[in-house]
Amino acid sequence: MSRHCLAEQFGGFVCDLDGVIYRGQHAVPGAVEALDAVSAPVVYATNNASGTPEEFARRLQGHGVHVQPEQVLTSSLAAARVLSRQLTSGAPVMAIGGPGVAASLRAVGLEPREPADGSAVDAVVQGYGSSVTAGDLGHAAAAIRGGARWIATNEDRTLPTEDGVAPGNGALVAALSMAVDVAPEVIGKPHPPMYEMAADLLRQPAGRVLALGDRLETDIAGAVATGMPGALVLTGVHGAKEAAAAPATMRPSYLLRDLGDLHRPYPPAGCADGFAVRGGARARVTDVLQVEGDGIDAERAAVDALHAALDEGRITVDDVGDLWRTGSVDRTRPEE
Ligand SMILES: [Mg+2]
Repeated sequence: MSRHCLAEQFGGFVCDLDGVIYRGQHAVPGAVEALDAVSAPVVYATNNASGTPEEFARRLQGHGVHVQPEQVLTSSLAAARVLSRQLTSGAPVMAIGGPGVAASLRAVGLEPREPADGSAVDAVVQGYGSSVTAGDLGHAAAAIRGGARWIATNEDRTLPTEDGVAPGNGALVAALSMAVDVAPEVIGKPHPPMYEMAADLLRQPAGRVLALGDRLETDIAGAVATGMPGALVLTGVHGAKEAAAAPATMRPSYLLRDLGDLHRPYPPAGCADGFAVRGGARARVTDVLQVEGDGIDAERAAVDALHAALDEGRITVDDVGDLWRTGSVDRTRPEE
């Protein structure tokens, strides 16, 4: 292991679950071994609010990850912790969503109430639940209009299911927002509270923690908003091309083929003869995207070159897709 490896450069890691450690029922090949080999502490953070840390820890353990529930941060637990700092112990809070929401409130000493309970509440916590009804949202709207604080665990618009894409918590938050005059406080990624809490758990300043995730608009945007370096892991939703087209607010600091790249040397960004350089690969944008070299370093150099061209106004985001294709066509082997 080399000190040039990312695994050796940070005081802690905050790792996304789906798309990074597992995809659906299956572990991402090599992910568990790579995490096991990291000596710094790891916090596992998910926007999924429906389960408890114990449930996620069991699922991770089932894949072979050495993890305790205390290392798992869900957006419902993070929401409950935010509220517990501001409300007195035992304060009543309406829980909208799956069992993870009420369990999180109970875990921090607050009193979860059913939506139809009818008694006054100090706050409403809204997380995803497959059984949330229009009636539940009606009770929540009444409480919020009556002055209760409104906390949303996350705003993910969609949710992948066995049957395809379903409306996520963000869709249900949008539905409730049409009935009230305030906006919710949102806790999950891309908003900073959950990442800030992860840094606290790791006892590290945000800048010393590396966020690992597969989605630009949540994992990486959250890292940028928190002042935390973010690594896009290319085993899930987004690829290097999407990273190249990303606005500055969701650009990853690092691109990893998989978590195993944490243990491989990560070449610093360089610049020579108008090329962006990464290790043995280099790239530049002229009329085409010219890439020399191969493998992940070629993709890293290509992303650097496209970001530079975007920032200099030489190309627009709409050009990135076409340039990426030409880059693949023109990509040459490094000199033997
Ligand atoms: Mg993910």
